[in-house]
Amino acid sequence: MQTARGVTRHPTPDHGITDRASGIGHRALMGRRLLMLGPPGAGKGTQAEMLCRAIGIPHVSTGMMLRDHVERGTDLGARAKEIMDAGDLVPDDIVIAMVEERLSAEDAVCGFLLDGFPRTRAQAEALDHVLGSDRPLEVVINLMAPEEEVLQRILARGRSDDTEEAVRTRIAVYGEQTAPLIEFYEARGLLTQVDGVGGIDAVLARVVAVLAA
Ligand code: ADP
Repeated sequence: MQTARGVTRHPTPDHGITDRASGIGHRALMGRRLLMLGPPGAGKGTQAEMLCRAIGIPHVSTGMMLRDHVERGTDLGARAKEIMDAGDLVPDDIVIAMVEERLSAEDAVCGFLLDGFPRTRAQAEALDHVLGSDRPLEVVINLMAPEEEVLQRILARGRSDDTEEAVRTRIAVYGEQTAPLIEFYEARGLLTQVDGVGGIDAVLARVVAVLAA
């Protein structure tokens, strides 16, 4: 279900998807407060969407929320569009405020999956602050895919911010600003690595397996 703000809600878990993926019912899954990291083009959006539908948690994607602002022609969208088309990061204060508002909604009390956020150390620290000690992150999934593979996938996808130059910038920005978060979460014992190469269902089965472990 798609809401006006580009946020997908999945009020009813679709147990079938999880069962098909791995034979594990959704109740066996441990974490409900999840974060998905990985380079642009690793397939985070696709996996996040399927996983959220399977286990009935909201999918919080800052990229989707920003694209929704662009489509609706809001002031924020007008500001963000140029930045996104160049492959740069939208300022931290903007995305932090968006995520803070989204996570304060009632459907995010028991769980959520963050996709595309945090992308900087400042965003990760702000997220800690927003979540506080009552509902800390439980699992951080690092979806891995080699650079040649992500480049090919993105260029085949053809979104408006998928020009070769913008994609190169995004990959560079990922390496400089976002990849260090892998260690940040590893140091807390939250990180699990998932191989993102393969068919959509095969990767989903790996994601579900690490959550059930
Ligand atoms: P991808 O899946 O290719 O990484 P996203 O849909 O997550 O792309 O994001 C698209 C663009 O939206 C980014 O290149 C960036 O400009 C902007 N954006 C999304 N999330 C954030 C964030 N957390 N901080 C700053 N900019 C963001």
